[in-house]
Amino acid sequence: MATVTLGDIRAARERIAGKIERTSIVLSASLSEGLGVPVQLKLEHRQTTGSFKLRGASNAVASLDAEEKARGIVAASTGNHGRALAHAAKLEGMRAVICMSRLVPKNKLDEIRRLGAEIRIVGNSQDDAQQEVERLVTEEGLVMLPPFDHPAIIAGQGTLGLEVMEQVPDAALVLVQLSGGGLASGVAAAVKGIRPGTRVVGVSMARGAAMKASLDAGRPVLVEELPTLADSLGGGIGLDNRLTFAMCRDLLDDVVLLSEDEIAAGIRHAYEQEREIVEGAGAVGIAALLAGKVKAEGPVVVLLSGRNIDMQLHKKIVCGEMPSISERAA
Ligand SMILES: *Cc1c(COP(=O)(O)O)cnc(C)c1O
Repeated sequence: MATVTLGDIRAARERIAGKIERTSIVLSASLSEGLGVPVQLKLEHRQTTGSFKLRGASNAVASLDAEEKARGIVAASTGNHGRALAHAAKLEGMRAVICMSRLVPKNKLDEIRRLGAEIRIVGNSQDDAQQEVERLVTEEGLVMLPPFDHPAIIAGQGTLGLEVMEQVPDAALVLVQLSGGGLASGVAAAVKGIRPGTRVVGVSMARGAAMKASLDAGRPVLVEELPTLADSLGGGIGLDNRLTFAMCRDLLDDVVLLSEDEIAAGIRHAYEQEREIVEGAGAVGIAALLAGKVKAEGPVVVLLSGRNIDMQLHKKIVCGEMPSISERAA
């Protein structure tokens, strides 16, 4: 069966050395005191482009052969994957085209353009943008790099797990964000490959947790996508999922789900107690601990995965105001 191994992840680290930051890890005084065990925060939200996605994107781009590099890459993501691809392609001197619908807010569009990608605006939905991606693949020969279900993407995200195990060699529990499962698959493969006894627990929002529903069903299933504060965790895992479903099934010890209020509390805690600005997805590990949803035994590592949150929304949340549904991205 196809999978990503510790060896693949170590090779990815060599490939992306110098292209990504080795992010620091810090002890959370308040969470450690509250739980009675050391809780370490991996500050990956401070990664270049504002999320860990640069690890997978850099590894995938660097793994292309010369002929593919000459053709360029294409994707429909306007979120953290799109940003990461734009940056990675620019570093490699490659063409990157990011397709988006007319509905994408101008600040997101400007950010991707600033990172050096070409922008194609087509139609009124993500599906229209995805159709343009497919057209560019068939007609112009661009290479599509998906956000999670790809061996080079998973291996790149796994380099985060290697760093964690070097920084906290006796980690008993690692809390990892879970959406499409590229991050969780890579991190779990690294952690379990180095120290099989360390527990790796996935954390998602309750609103539209596609991987959790799929794991419960025993096969990839569709779930309705709902607006959530953890917008980077939205979206399905693909009914034709090749890698991440099986890796999450085989490697994760548990998956926990959080309410919107619990996620908001995580964002607020990160800001007030840790002095860190994190997006909703980035805060779910902290939120799971605060909500008492995981048993914290032994040294705990919590990944802070991203910081790309609208600052008006962030301001409301830290002021204790619960934003309306329409203010949350789908
Ligand atoms: C993409 C993303 C995730 C989830 O990663 P998957 O590989 O899709 O599970 C978590 N946090 C942030 C900030 C992200 O951008």
